Amino acid sequence: MKKLSLLLAFAIVMTFVLSGCSPSAQDIEDAYSVFGGANAFGSELKNPGTTKTFAIGGTPTGDYRDAAINACNKLNGVSTKVNISYNTNNTTGDWRMRTSTSGDIASNTKGVEYNTSALGNYYVVSSDIVIVSTYCDALTANQKKYIALHEMGHTVGLKDLYNPGLSSSNNKQKAYDYILDNKLTVMLSAYFSKKTEIHALTDYSEYDKRSIKDVFGA
Ligand SMILES: [Zn+2]
Repeated sequence: MKKLSLLLAFAIVMTFVLSGCSPSAQDIEDAYSVFGGANAFGSELKNPGTTKTFAIGGTPTGDYRDAAINACNKLNGVSTKVNISYNTNNTTGDWRMRTSTSGDIASNTKGVEYNTSALGNYYVVSSDIVIVSTYCDALTANQKKYIALHEMGHTVGLKDLYNPGLSSSNNKQKAYDYILDNKLTVMLSAYFSKKTEIHALTDYSEYDKRSIKDVFGA
């Protein structure tokens, strides 16, 4: 009898623990309504139906090359409106992914046209992604993939997701905390500021895909 009640108590505790860990559908919707869809974008890829060709020849070798190619392929898999091709022989061009030994972690210097996008102030018309090997050599292959996915996310116009901070509404803070805790997007800047915690996502999350499809179409 004692054994049975202990078992029952254990089962009840585990039910609470497990339900506390798994994301609830409503929490996802709440977070998406604050930071998802058009709210996830700071600019907008111009002519999304046309193909953009990235030059990833030259310095991206090994893990970096894999990460660059993975980011192109995964972004292509999200929406038929976003078409990325890559040329592994070229090193020049307006659309590039490369590595460098100077700078901090990674960057995306986009060419933009001002004040015409419906989503943000800018249309993205080119993209130059640099992953800094001085820092990133120490990361795992999957962490390098996260970084390449993140920078490719900027190419279509996704913006960094920052902690909204003390001045924000509870609603906004709760949404951010939820997205961070559940690693719902590759666009979290937290992983870039806390360098040791860069996550190892190897594809866009369902949350990211939904934002891109809501804006560009499936
Ligand atoms: Zn970023």
